[in-house]
Amino acid sequence: MLNRKYQDALDNKTKRSKALALLSGGLDSLLAVKLVLDQGVDVEAVNFMTPFCLCDRCSVNKFVKELDIKIHRIFLGQEFLDMIVNPAHGYGSQMNPCLDCRVLMFRRAKELAEKIGAEFLVTGEVLGERPFSQRKEAMLLIEREAGLEGKILRPLSAKLLPKSEPEKKGLVDRDRLLAIRGRRRLPQMELARKLCIKDYPNPSGGCLLTDPGFAQRLREHLKYKGELTLEDVALLKVGRHFRLDTVKIVVGRNKEENKRLLMISKNRRIPYLEALDYKGPITLYVGEEKPDLMERAAAITVRYSDAPKGIPVKMTYRSNEKEKIIEVRAIKDDKLEKMRI
Ligand code: SF4
Repeated sequence: MLNRKYQDALDNKTKRSKALALLSGGLDSLLAVKLVLDQGVDVEAVNFMTPFCLCDRCSVNKFVKELDIKIHRIFLGQEFLDMIVNPAHGYGSQMNPCLDCRVLMFRRAKELAEKIGAEFLVTGEVLGERPFSQRKEAMLLIEREAGLEGKILRPLSAKLLPKSEPEKKGLVDRDRLLAIRGRRRLPQMELARKLCIKDYPNPSGGCLLTDPGFAQRLREHLKYKGELTLEDVALLKVGRHFRLDTVKIVVGRNKEENKRLLMISKNRRIPYLEALDYKGPITLYVGEEKPDLMERAAAITVRYSDAPKGIPVKMTYRSNEKEKIIEVRAIKDDKLEKMRI
């Protein structure tokens, strides 16, 4: 039975209310959307992409098709990268500035909601599921900073949070919302079973910024460069990285990466090294051309080539202006490890 306030709101309504849902493609946001749709609210969704997304676009497409709702896609590019360099609320366990990231996403979602006439936002956030950004105080702080105080409905944990505006106005019935807390995903799986949702992606998915190896590279990059561009990120995502004083080299790990590195070299006019007579990696050389560092870069490249151990190997160093032959032996592993980023 619907409560009085909700029933009154339904009776008085001349049109259905409208919400904008942040849809990540994971189970939580799907369940949140389902719960709101089941209360007779019109829902449109927005899916945010960042340069660090490992998200499954297919699952988002599948959900919106199944739910028959409109999807908007927003790519957060340079604005997102600038935020990462110096996030007001710091980083999580790695280089993930989740609080600032959420504020940014909510600000953009707010603009979209105003454009499409949505009265409130919906997310699949669960209280305590993520230690950094899904604590109660953090959630409320994000709301405030995004200028959305009271306007975010979190159907999975709503009963554990202060009443949101749509609940107060009777646009949704608080009694039909949930009180899920914590990192165990059993309640969500149980709810999915009840709602007959069978196919949903693994919750891992995610964001490269939480990956310790990638975070280490990014930290190192920011220490040397102090800024971050989309081109930098493209390079951070590929190959093995080594620091040789002021120079960074990126060594391809397979055919696919070698192809990507050659492409980056061509587009950004970055010199590269490769073995002349043996199969081996492409190595990008980023930084000032110094003979000793070029030799060291060549020796690292030989280490990952098919050349027999211990023999001198001819390497080419190619830049737009010149091509140079360098003859070196593979670097020893103990020396190599000291340079690895
Ligand atoms: S994990 Fe990545 S995408 Fe998710 S909130 Fe944190 S920074 Fe943003």
